[in-house]
Amino acid sequence: MHTPCIICILDGMADLPTRDGQPTPLAAARTPTLDRLAATGAAGLCQVIPTGAEAGSDAGIPALLGYDPLRHPVARGPLEALSAGLPLAPRDTAWRCNVVAPDTHGRMADPAATLLPATEQTIARIVCAAFPAPGYGTAHGGGFRFTVVERETASHAASPSSPPAPEPLAPAAFTPAGPQDVTGQYPADALRDLARHHPALHARITAANTHLADITGPDALHGLALWPWGCGHRPALPPFSVCHPAAASSTYPGRPLTAAMMAAVPLARGLAPAAGLTAPEIPGATGGADTDLAAKAAAALALLADHAVVFIHVEGPDMCAHARDARAKSALLARIDVELIAPLRTARPDALLCVTCDHVTHCGDGRHHPDAVPFLLHGPGALPHPAARFDEAACAATGLRIPSGPSLLDLILRAATNQAGA
Ligand SMILES: [Zn+2]
Repeated sequence: MHTPCIICILDGMADLPTRDGQPTPLAAARTPTLDRLAATGAAGLCQVIPTGAEAGSDAGIPALLGYDPLRHPVARGPLEALSAGLPLAPRDTAWRCNVVAPDTHGRMADPAATLLPATEQTIARIVCAAFPAPGYGTAHGGGFRFTVVERETASHAASPSSPPAPEPLAPAAFTPAGPQDVTGQYPADALRDLARHHPALHARITAANTHLADITGPDALHGLALWPWGCGHRPALPPFSVCHPAAASSTYPGRPLTAAMMAAVPLARGLAPAAGLTAPEIPGATGGADTDLAAKAAAALALLADHAVVFIHVEGPDMCAHARDARAKSALLARIDVELIAPLRTARPDALLCVTCDHVTHCGDGRHHPDAVPFLLHGPGALPHPAARFDEAACAATGLRIPSGPSLLDLILRAATNQAGA
């Protein structure tokens, strides 16, 4: 017998105290199931983002999958390229490109433009034309998210004066700042460093931005622009099953530890091929606040039949916090309680259930923060260490503090293993 594990990553769920003493969105949300699980299981804080790593899902989600972001840095661009099925040779470079909206002066104002479907199609055509095959590959990850892969040949072809990159080509030498860190700047100024390090890509981004600046519409009052960031090479992660041999041998003797990822957003989905996880398409899972949580719960339950660990990633809370909409974040967390957590707990009382998040996203400033985040662990094998309810303050008050994402996964797998061996 083995104890199956369900690990829910509610992206950006955690928040910071507000200046006016209002409860955080998690504390304000009506979450009777999460509160009951925290009060009858183990709850505490986990320092998912290590010192030295940027607070973001590209560090936080791999950390919760057991990959130390400092030892195994993974970039957003390559993960999204893998998720889109773009071919990615070891020396190709993949970029995440946000569609950003400038203000009336042409300074970057919205790092993640909200786009109408017709505008998305126009942008997709411009991006395809600006980055043609065979030197480039492109994908549209929905909304403002685009991915561009620059083949090794293309990065040199347009800049014959630059010498070929030295061996080995370890993590990309230069990654521009995230789009939230360049708000208020002029795109051309902010892209100056890109021109020095990646001249071929810079030339094509600049050409695309000339066309994007001319787009007009209710969703593009002052034109639009592409902001490339999160670049890197194909990640070299050891397979999930290889990383956890002890858990594997006690749960499925003679078989590797199988894991699955339920996710809609390309970053989380791209970790599946990189780490050897199953990642089914889930109809109705949108990566937004309107996502079909029941469909995710059902897909997770189906995969538990032949997977020892099922990760469920829900992007919506992060999106609400980036929009600085605390009320929407609370409402979504309340819906997650009813439509995801409660059905999972009811359907599989024999499973270990962990609920946590990858990083803080603060509704007060719409940004990620590296602070420790709440987690709860409930089910067979979870030692009692209860919290009064499931929120940031109550989890901090338990005094249980897990130093990293990989240690939280260890704790979960050890609990599952002990139970299996008992
Ligand atoms: Zn975010």
